[in-house]
Amino acid sequence: MGDKFRRMMQGRYGADQLGQFLSVAALVSVLIGLFTGWSWFSLFGIFLLAWQYFRMFSRNIQKRYNENQGFLLLRRRVVGWFRKERSFVDQNKGYRIFKCPSCGQKVRVPKGKGRISIHCPKCGNDFIKRT
Ligand SMILES: [Zn+2]
Repeated sequence: MGDKFRRMMQGRYGADQLGQFLSVAALVSVLIGLFTGWSWFSLFGIFLLAWQYFRMFSRNIQKRYNENQGFLLLRRRVVGWFRKERSFVDQNKGYRIFKCPSCGQKVRVPKGKGRISIHCPKCGNDFIKRT
């Protein structure tokens, strides 16, 4: 390692967030493959690892950089989606959602009110539910 390694890595792309993600995903896949005996999981892990190394030693820095940017964008979107889902669940704490039997409109009512008559805001139908 040391000098020789540094010289070898000169002008090469190296590790980035996508690379880190690939290493972790590769490790997880291989472990799942080992524990479950599904060898295609391990194969997939090895494929991810090979991809990771290919990117690390690549000299096409611009292309690798763009890939990483794409990955970061995707990750932001996924994280954003999970945040939105969680806040949706939080908002509906203490409520129950019922579907209107005549039009399918979802109606949100407070929990723990016993048997109540629910008025559908869309079609005006009334139906009885236990909350
Ligand atoms: Zn309705």
